[in-house]
Amino acid sequence: MKNILFICGMAVLACCTAFAQRLPGGVTPSHYNLSFDIHFANNSFDGDESIDVALDKPSKSITLNAVEIDFHQVSVTAGGKTQTATVSTDEKNEMATFSVPDELPAGPATLHIKYTGKLNDKLRGLYLSTYKGRKYAVTQMESTDARVAFPSFDEPAYKATFDIAAIVDKGDTAISNDVVVSDQPGPGDQHTIKFATTPKMSSYLVALTVGDWKCRHDQVDGIQIGVCTVPGRENLTRFPLDATKAILHYYNNYYSIKYPLKKLDEIAVPDFQAGAMENWGAIIYRETALLVDEKTGSFGAKQGVADVIAHEVAHQWFGDLVTMQWWDDIWLNEGFATWMTPHPVSAWKPDWLVDQGVVNGSMNALADDGVKNTRPIHQAATTRGEIETLFDGIAYGKTAAVLHMLESYLGHETFRAGVNMYLKEHAYGNATASDFWSAMARASKKPIDQIMPTFVMQAGEPYVQVDSKCAGGNTTLNVAQKRYFNTPEDFNAANEQLWQIPLCVKEVGAATQSECFLMTKRDQQFTVKGCPKIVFPNATGLGYYRFSYDTKAIQQLGAAVEQGLTPEERIALIGDNWALMRAGQVHVGDYLAAGAQLKNTPGYVLLGNFTGHLEFVYHDLVNPADRPQFQAWVRQTFSPLMQQLGYAARANESPTDRQKRAILFQTLGLLGDEPQVIQQASTLVQQYMKDPQSVDPTLVRAAIGVAARHGNAELYNQFKAQLKDAKTPEMYYRYFYALAAFPEQDLIQQTLASTLTPDVRSQDLYLLTNLMENPEGRDAAWNFMRKNYDALNAKTGGGLGGFGLFLRAAQSFCSQEREQEVQQFFAQHPIQGTERNQREALESIHSCAELKQQQETALAAWLKQNASMNASAGGVKAEPAVR
Ligand SMILES: [Zn+2]
Repeated sequence: MKNILFICGMAVLACCTAFAQRLPGGVTPSHYNLSFDIHFANNSFDGDESIDVALDKPSKSITLNAVEIDFHQVSVTAGGKTQTATVSTDEKNEMATFSVPDELPAGPATLHIKYTGKLNDKLRGLYLSTYKGRKYAVTQMESTDARVAFPSFDEPAYKATFDIAAIVDKGDTAISNDVVVSDQPGPGDQHTIKFATTPKMSSYLVALTVGDWKCRHDQVDGIQIGVCTVPGRENLTRFPLDATKAILHYYNNYYSIKYPLKKLDEIAVPDFQAGAMENWGAIIYRETALLVDEKTGSFGAKQGVADVIAHEVAHQWFGDLVTMQWWDDIWLNEGFATWMTPHPVSAWKPDWLVDQGVVNGSMNALADDGVKNTRPIHQAATTRGEIETLFDGIAYGKTAAVLHMLESYLGHETFRAGVNMYLKEHAYGNATASDFWSAMARASKKPIDQIMPTFVMQAGEPYVQVDSKCAGGNTTLNVAQKRYFNTPEDFNAANEQLWQIPLCVKEVGAATQSECFLMTKRDQQFTVKGCPKIVFPNATGLGYYRFSYDTKAIQQLGAAVEQGLTPEERIALIGDNWALMRAGQVHVGDYLAAGAQLKNTPGYVLLGNFTGHLEFVYHDLVNPADRPQFQAWVRQTFSPLMQQLGYAARANESPTDRQKRAILFQTLGLLGDEPQVIQQASTLVQQYMKDPQSVDPTLVRAAIGVAARHGNAELYNQFKAQLKDAKTPEMYYRYFYALAAFPEQDLIQQTLASTLTPDVRSQDLYLLTNLMENPEGRDAAWNFMRKNYDALNAKTGGGLGGFGLFLRAAQSFCSQEREQEVQQFFAQHPIQGTERNQREALESIHSCAELKQQQETALAAWLKQNASMNASAGGVKAEPAVR
C-alpha cells in the first residue's frame, strides 16, 4: 500500500477513545429490517428499524449498541403484546437499554425503533462525503461503528440477515449489500429502493452508499459485477472491472464454496478513511485504491489496485462468510486476505513476478516483529482503542507471512484442502484461531495445531543458527533457536522462547535440492545426504524466521549466490543480512557490499528493498559530513545499471523492468544527487504536465519526486495548478504528495498550513507523514503537528484519529533529544488503548539512535575505502525519455 499502510480497517486509527465494552448477552438478533431516509439538506437521516431477537430468559429490558442516535420511539413486541419502551443511553459504553413495564417472556421478540442519525464528517457509521459540490452518503462500520448508523447488536458473533431500504432524492441512487428488488417513487419527490435479504452476516459488514453514482457492469461465473464512481470517472473503471473478473473467477475455483451473492459492487468514494472495506457484496474503496487509467496508470498503481481488489474479494470468504468470533482473532480476517492476495494476481499477471513481492512482504513483517514491543498475532482487546490498534502490520503482514510458510511447507493443494475444510465447517458462522489450526491439522495430517500456536500466541520471531559439518559423505546440521531482537543488547541476552519451526533448507551442490525438517527443540540435529557446497537455511525464502550461518559459509554463499539461489531466496538473504546488521552481527559496510553484489537480481523487488534501506542509511546512519561520499558510492553503484536500462522505456519492455528503472532513477536522484538524473527529472516533468501520455507512467512518479526534491517555488506552483484539473486520482496524488518533498522552508510552511484547510481532505492527512520524510521538513512538520494537535484531532474525528498520525510521524526520528520530546508528547496526550504503540514508537527512535552510534564511525571508514569521489560523472547518455 502506497500511502495507506493497511488495506482495510483503520489506516489512520479512526475515532474515539470511548470504551466498546461487551454487550451483556442473553438476547440474540436474527433479522434486521432497516430503512434509511437520507436528508442531504440538513446532513441527517431518519431510521426506521425492526429487529427480530430471541431472549434466553424473561426480562424487562434489552441492551444493544447505539451511539450518536436520537431515539424517537421504541417499542417491543413479544408474546402477542406490544409495549412502548423507555430508552436510557450509556454514551461511554456506546449502548442503549430499552425498558418495558411488563416482563418480556423468553423466546422471540421484535424491537421497533424510530430514530434520527447524523450524516457526520468523521468518516464513520453512515457519513457524508462531498465532491465538486455534490453530497454522498457512505458507510464504514468496521470495527464498531454500525452502532452509529443503526442501533444494533454490534459484535461480530451476532450474525443476522438484513433487509435494507433507502429513501433517496430524485437523481440519486443507492447501492447496498445485495441486489435491488424494487425501486418505487415516493414518499414525495424521493424514491424508495429496496434490496434483497442478505445472507446471515455480522453488523460491521452492512453497506449503503447514496449519491449520483455511475457504474460500469460486467459479469463472471453468472455473478454481476459493477464498478461505481462519481460522474466523470467512468473511464477509469475498465481495469478494476477486468481485475475483479479474473480474481473472483480464481476464488470461485479455489474455494469449494462459490461466491454466494448474485452481485458484487465496488464503489470508489471521494472520502474514505481506510484503503477499502470488504462489505459483503458492496466493497467500498478510496478512489486511488480502485480507479486507474489503463493508458496513463503506472505499474505501481495497477499493481496496487489489483492487490487491494484481491484482498477485499478474498474477504468475501475470510471475514464475510466465516468471521472471527471476536476482534482478538482479527488476523483470521486480515492475515488471510493478505496471504490470499498474491494467488489470483499472480495467475492473472504472471509477468508481474508477484512471488518476489511475497517474500519481500515476509521480510517487512519480520522487520516489524523484531522489536521488543511487538505483540502476538492473537491479542486480547476489549475497548474501541484496543480493537482499532489491532489493524496493524502484525495482523496483516506477519499472519500472511506465517501462512505462506505453512502453505510452502504443506504444499498448495494440501493447504487448500485445509482452508476449504475450515470454511465449510464455519460458513455463515464464526470461528476462532484453534478452529483454523484444528481443520488444518486434520486436512494435512501434520501437527499444524502444534506449530501455529507458537507463531500466533507468542510475540516475536525465531532466530535459527545453523552450523553444518560434512563427515562420511553426509552433512550434519546443528541447529539452535532463540528469539531475534533488532538491537545487539537484546539479541545477545538469553531468552526462553521456543517455536515449532518448519525449517526448509536448500542444498546447493552438484544436485541442488530442498528438504524440510520440523524443529521443535531449542537445539537439534538433522542430517542431509551428501556434502553440498552450501546449505541455505531458508529454501523458497518463505520461512518466518531469521537465520545465520558461520562466516566461512556466508562467504561461500556469496560466491554461489547467482547459480544456487532463486531471486526470492536472495531477497530473503539480503533481508536477513539487514536484520543481522541491526542486531550487531554484521557491519553496515558488509550489508552495503552484499546488496551491491545482488543488485542485478532479476525483477525489481530486491533492488527496491535494498534501496529502501539505503534511504534509511542516508537519512539516519551517515554522518552529514560523510554524505558526499555516500552519494558518490550510490552513483558508482547504480549509474551503470541506469545506463544499461536507459531513461526511455522500450517497446514490449516488461512492467517490472520499468519499475526497476523508476527505482534506479529515484535512488540516483534522491540519494546520489546525480546531476543528469536531476536534469532529466525536470525535463520529464515539464513534458508530462503538457502531455501526460508522452512519458512512461511508471517513471513519471519517480521523476516528479526527484524534481520536487530539487525544485523551487515555480515548480511548486505548477504542481498546485495541476492538482486542480488532474484527470485521474493517481495523477492528483502524484502532485499532491510531491508538495511535501520541496526543500524550501516557506514552501514547507505552505504545505503544512494547507493541511488545516479544506484543500486537504481528512483522509489525506498522510501529507504530514510525507513531510516527516523530507529531511528539510521533518522539524517543521513535528513542530506544526504538536502546535496544532487539537485542530488535527478535530479534523480526523477526534481521539485516535489524530494520534495515529503522531505515532506514524514519531517513527521517523533517530535521536535521543527527539525520543525525549516524543515521550513528553505522549505523556501530555494519554490515549487509552495505544500504550503499546507508544512504547513501540519510542523503541524505534531509541534503537535507531543507538544504531547510528554503533555504525557511524565504521561506516565513514568503509565509505572512505569503497566510495570513489570521481563517480559523479556516471550519468546516462542523454536520450529522449518519451515513448
Ligand atoms: Zn482487509
